[in-house]
Amino acid sequence: MLKVNNLSVSVNDKILLSDFNIDINDGEIHVLMGPNGAGKSTLCKVLFNNPDYTINSGNIIFNNVDITNMDPSEISKLGMYIVNQSPISIEGVSNAEMLRIALEERTGEKVGIFKFNKELEDVCTKLNIPKDFIFRGINEGMSGGERKKNELLHMWILKPSFIILDEIDSGLDVDALKIVANNLIEYKKEYNCSILIVTHHEKLIELMHPDYVHIVKNGKVSKTGDYNLAINTLKEGFINGTLDMTGSISNE
Ligand code: ADP
Ligand code: MG
Repeated sequence: MLKVNNLSVSVNDKILLSDFNIDINDGEIHVLMGPNGAGKSTLCKVLFNNPDYTINSGNIIFNNVDITNMDPSEISKLGMYIVNQSPISIEGVSNAEMLRIALEERTGEKVGIFKFNKELEDVCTKLNIPKDFIFRGINEGMSGGERKKNELLHMWILKPSFIILDEIDSGLDVDALKIVANNLIEYKKEYNCSILIVTHHEKLIELMHPDYVHIVKNGKVSKTGDYNLAINTLKEGFINGTLDMTGSISNE
């Protein structure tokens, strides 16, 4: 589904990713871990061709299409979706309005408003969020945790096949974390999507049970393993004092 090949990325001559490789198949869950500043968020943003970053070499192939230099709206239409570390708010544009337009853009069909509103309400129930979220401005006046849930509301409507979650756990309390993880698992069961998760949160890793775990250091994947690599990295880090309180591995 997604192949990142020898990707090198910089900002103002500072190299942030060098020779980065990752290969994610249909229906797989991958976790990225690593110290603060290792390049995890950079990778997530570059997958969507964020214009702040310069791609020096390598490419990104999504379902056999080279998306390395593609417009983000086109990448989105191909079925990629990102929940950023800090989702921004857009005042004055309601969730429902934005989603209806996005959906019409994506499918090329007119959205029937009654069926659409019913679908939105059903997702609000699933996510345990008030139904008035539907008509609120995008993330307007919402807490960090509510924003993350709101991003999942968008996911259910836009139905992406590949989902990137950059620290979705930040801002979520323990109950919200469980709702979010179970919701993602329910979505994956229904649509067999692939998921890339950036996290150091043990509970989230436990709940999502990834197929592959990659440790990112200095802008490249330094180690790949299975679920146990994540659990051992967290455990050894705590025992040896190599994992600081923010969850970054400082001396692995
Ligand atoms: P991580 O998510 O692994 O903590 P990031 O990918 O956010 O790390 O950042 C990697 C490095 O790149 C950091 O040193 C960060 O300061 C730098 N960086 C990221 N984005 C930019 C940018 N737009 N301009 C300048 N430096 C950046
Ligand atoms: Mg980050």
